[in-house]
Amino acid sequence: MDPAALARDLLRCPSVTPAEGGALGLIEGVLKRAGFAVHRVTFAEPGTAPVENLFARIGSEKPHICFAGHTDVVPPGDAATWSHPPFGGDIAGDVLYGRGAVDMKGAVACAVAASLDHLAASGGRPKGSISFLITGDEESIAVNGTIKLLQWAAERGERFDHCILGEPSNASSIGDTIKVGRRGSLNGTLVITGKQGHVAYPQLADNPVRGLVALMGALMAAPLDHGSTNFDASNLEFTSIDIGNATVNLIPGEARARFNIRFNDCHSQTSLRTLIERLAADAARERVKWRIDWEPSNADVFFTEPSPFLDLVVAAIKEVTGQAPKLSTTGGTSDARFIKDYCPVLEFGLVGATMHQVDERTAVADLATLTAVYRKILDRYFG
Ligand SMILES: [Zn+2]
Repeated sequence: MDPAALARDLLRCPSVTPAEGGALGLIEGVLKRAGFAVHRVTFAEPGTAPVENLFARIGSEKPHICFAGHTDVVPPGDAATWSHPPFGGDIAGDVLYGRGAVDMKGAVACAVAASLDHLAASGGRPKGSISFLITGDEESIAVNGTIKLLQWAAERGERFDHCILGEPSNASSIGDTIKVGRRGSLNGTLVITGKQGHVAYPQLADNPVRGLVALMGALMAAPLDHGSTNFDASNLEFTSIDIGNATVNLIPGEARARFNIRFNDCHSQTSLRTLIERLAADAARERVKWRIDWEPSNADVFFTEPSPFLDLVVAAIKEVTGQAPKLSTTGGTSDARFIKDYCPVLEFGLVGATMHQVDERTAVADLATLTAVYRKILDRYFG
């Protein structure tokens, strides 16, 4: 099966989160014709848009390999700045253009094509089970997507042995990188309370800006750790300072600063909060009135331990691409943070260089290469 044709058709579906845009319907049709049992499941929650998801499986035996992914995309921005329409699916020369080309409709198309090719070569049934876990809620808040689809599947008795998530893992060419883990992410707001007053009479006020600067300095000064065997050092970045004081002769009553921490496996969310609050308390001593408002986070750190499955995937990549992939834990969070609670998960997809950019694109040759890698993985997995 030609992955470029399916990828092109998927790119023509305007599936900006939370819209389905026809993308899941397209996959449903292709998988049903190949003998998969396909379920379309919609999840909703108060205050969020309902989102459509898809689960499909062929075979009832072990081993059970799952391809996970998403068909939703981030908005294209100003379409006039694209050299090809963001939802046109244009192929020019060897390049396929469109929002989602690499993140990650292209990889979904490759996984479908590889599965259909594998099935066609093995009498239409796998020597085990192949499933697809495809969400429409990855790029936005990710509450009505993979996390709920996994729970839904578990309640139906689905048990996955291994999963490949087709996020764009490679830096510059197919085969250079597998993601074997992700850092966690935690957001907080540092709030300093002072006393409002006239700027000419500071002795009658308590300027919270002084405390804010002191505590921000303390939180940025010390490294949170020095990295671990599998991860770079954790990092805290302040992203905004919010005082909102437009008056020149007024000392404000409160000052805030927002921050994000990307953390490695030296920490849990709880231990990290304790560490940050201790650093803040040490800097504040008795002088500064402070608190930190933590936002709830479902982005925990994880690492997929080396295993025969990882060896199999690495060998398949080497055989097809000639490259020995680097095992990486860099980058943002992904839905693998949910999947890891159910089975070992690896991330391998297209080249991520243009993801979320104007003129997002992939080489058509890359689609063929990724399909060949997925096919090789399936052939070895069931071989
Ligand atoms: Zn993605």
